[in-house]
Amino acid sequence: MMESTCPECGAVLAEGQTCRDHFDQMLFWEAEDFSRGVVHHLLVLCYHLQHPSLYSMEGLQYGLGLLDQFVVQGITPADVRKQSRDQVASGNRNWKITARPDSIGAYDHPITWTMTAADVVAQGADNYVDSVRAWAQSVHESLKLVG
Ligand SMILES: [Zn+2]
Repeated sequence: MMESTCPECGAVLAEGQTCRDHFDQMLFWEAEDFSRGVVHHLLVLCYHLQHPSLYSMEGLQYGLGLLDQFVVQGITPADVRKQSRDQVASGNRNWKITARPDSIGAYDHPITWTMTAADVVAQGADNYVDSVRAWAQSVHESLKLVG
């Protein structure tokens, strides 16, 4: 068996497997049972924060702030949508969240993640909601040690 390691999140991957496959598996579980969608925002955020090159530099900073708001302040995705509508309406956000050639998100120091998308998938569909919440907590913890 040929294993490899994801260069961004450090997850061990089987031959031919990528973290994107795990992301897609989780999206499938959410589509299969809509009640699992309550953690959709955390799934998207954790996946991107552990693969920062998907973000622009500004997008990464925004994502870090968002995780703090979700995990520490307990705000909801609806609150975020309202905030972001207000920002767009007032012209305060004139940058793109996703990576572009001249701005690719990266951390100043390597981060040791204690839980990855692979772990969430390994814990199975029945534990999905709890697993993603635990994942978000772990990502927040890992990032705190950096600053
Ligand atoms: Zn990865």
